[in-house]
Amino acid sequence: MRILVCGGAGFIGSHTCTVLAERGHELVIADSFVNSSPRVEGRLEAILGHAPACHRVDLLDRGAVAALFACERFDAVIHFAALKAVGESCERPLDYFDNNIAGTIHLLQAMRAAGVGRLVFSSSATVYGDPDTVPVCEDAALRVSNPYGRSKLVMEQLIGDLCTYDPGFQAVNLRYFNPVGAHPSGLIGEDPGGIPGNLMPYICQVAVGRRERLEVFGGDWPTVDGTGVRDYIHVMDLARAHADALDFLFRERRSATVNLGTGRGTSVLQLVRAFGRASGREIPHRIVARRAGDVAEVYADPSLARSLLGWQAELDIDAMCRDAWRWQSMNPDGYGDEPAAGTAAHATASRRVPDQVSEAIAGG
Ligand code: UDP
Repeated sequence: MRILVCGGAGFIGSHTCTVLAERGHELVIADSFVNSSPRVEGRLEAILGHAPACHRVDLLDRGAVAALFACERFDAVIHFAALKAVGESCERPLDYFDNNIAGTIHLLQAMRAAGVGRLVFSSSATVYGDPDTVPVCEDAALRVSNPYGRSKLVMEQLIGDLCTYDPGFQAVNLRYFNPVGAHPSGLIGEDPGGIPGNLMPYICQVAVGRRERLEVFGGDWPTVDGTGVRDYIHVMDLARAHADALDFLFRERRSATVNLGTGRGTSVLQLVRAFGRASGREIPHRIVARRAGDVAEVYADPSLARSLLGWQAELDIDAMCRDAWRWQSMNPDGYGDEPAAGTAAHATASRRVPDQVSEAIAGG
């Protein structure tokens, strides 16, 4: 099948591209490169032996999205393209609503106009907020606690309404728990701009010497060792789930919302120790105050993904740490001093993406 991967140059999108290509799908990546590197394209070429088609398209540009669908034919869409930093979303909520929600509306409009009725959507366990019980099932109460989470929930709801009222439209919402790790080649991985907000990239940057020490947010949570517990999932397992979700959509022609996690919780200190073993480096850390908005313990009930998609996670914490470390040690500066989004240099870097369709779009 011919798949449009929106946000295909990002962390989860790029890994999903490798799995889709290995399964014989033809890929077209659309990415704004606001939060991702144009160098991903070359890395994918090195992994796959050919470069996937890659267009610089911002979903906020309704005309460009429509032009993309006018120039290309797609059987389905996987939608990763969204801003995802919780802290930033609290500072700039309207930017998050605009980029994530308006961008999704433009994509859905273009899909509908082109008669493309299959969507896999990148959602998040953040929609559960602080759950009443663990493991978390898909029918747990939805209670978001920040604008990022709100944007994910609203996007799920918009997509859900289309699924309800348009018989030609089906979608799978995938609620990710905590994606970590990297492709086993070490050529693609997670490269957050600025100070990492998430635990694993922070640990990686401490291990590689870019940061002095990890601050562990709270040592007095009601958990196994007092530190926060999460369900870390290897990004290659996650990537495989997207290909399985596409198969589900074409096989069953119905919509679904499923959790993607391992079903196992790991504490901050357990992850720090596992990373130390994988990297052979000590991870300096100290316990500090809790982070506002954090919760003690969240892990998935992944049984629905197994029964509906035939998917389950296969890679353990040691594999996640080993692959994250391979990526970080091979690429200490990530994709290599990519300038921060929004700078003139970044715009220049983005323009390097070879792009016939974008030129057609720009030229009308
Ligand atoms: N965490 C931490 N130090 C950091 C970043 C995260 O101790 O620099 C903790 C955080 O409090 C939580 C866990 O690591 O218990 C996972 O945090 P992350 O932000 O990666 O995921 P989320 O909290 O969104 O599930």
